[in-house]
Amino acid sequence: MKTKTALITGSTSGIGLAIAHTLAEAGAKVGLHGLMAESEGSALALEFERRYGTKATFSNADLRCATAVGELVDYTKQALGGVDILVNNAGIQYTSRVETFPEQKWDDIIAINLSSAFHTIRAALPFMKNRGWGRIVNIASVHGLVASVNKAAYVTAKHGIVGLTKAVALENVEQGITCNAICPGWVDTPLIAAQIEQYAQQHQLDLQAARHQLITDKQPMPVMTPASSIGQWVLFLCSEFAQTTTGAALPIDGGWTAQ
Ligand code: NAD
Repeated sequence: MKTKTALITGSTSGIGLAIAHTLAEAGAKVGLHGLMAESEGSALALEFERRYGTKATFSNADLRCATAVGELVDYTKQALGGVDILVNNAGIQYTSRVETFPEQKWDDIIAINLSSAFHTIRAALPFMKNRGWGRIVNIASVHGLVASVNKAAYVTAKHGIVGLTKAVALENVEQGITCNAICPGWVDTPLIAAQIEQYAQQHQLDLQAARHQLITDKQPMPVMTPASSIGQWVLFLCSEFAQTTTGAALPIDGGWTAQ
């Protein structure tokens, strides 16, 4: 990884932060990104540089804006010398039945969880093609493969990103570029905290019991995947062992989609 540069969207928290740690530990230069104050983000980048002896940058571009997404890729290319590895990870969640789903939430989820990946890939591909090497990893979800109630926008965006993954993979089979999607079940991050609280209130459970029940409602294996495991999957997809793995949607889901 020592010659590689990675841009990981949404890497100030949860899965993205874990992926950034894994890639930086393996020697890659990392472009950190997420909704965080400039001062806090710069401090995080400095912490990465000190800890891993690699170069790190930070951007808080808002992925709801297509222009900002293009600028994020350009900034990373300029500051770090390229984008060899692109991890589209940033995402948000909102739960409601379709008929009460706020239009703005729909637009935001489609923009952040789906369209931003189109914009980053579009901006990063010319560099990867020039180098004859590239790795694109889209963090989708089991909801890219199956649906659940109350998650119409999320399920739509995640199915979309699995489709985008396949299209980009096929367009680049002769370029040394792979594009894959990782489809996690439950991963212990701030994204699901609100869902656990909501479930606890609805079913009058304490948070521990709500957490267990929420997991096992869908996922046969009653444990959440650690965010660090997703980091290791990304690292594997960036390795030479995975050079023919492309267009895949890999479920890391405790058996959720095996049912
Ligand atoms: P998280 O809430 O911990 O992190 C989300 C990241 O996205 C943060 O860095 C945040 O700043 C960034 N972000 C949010 N809105 C943004 C915006 N408008 N512009 C720029 N950045 C923005 O979430 P997480 O659980 O680590 O989720 C990461 C990805 O993994 C998401 O795509 C999510 O859908 C997916 N995922 C999560 C789980 C899970 O159980 N946690 C399961 C399957 C898939």
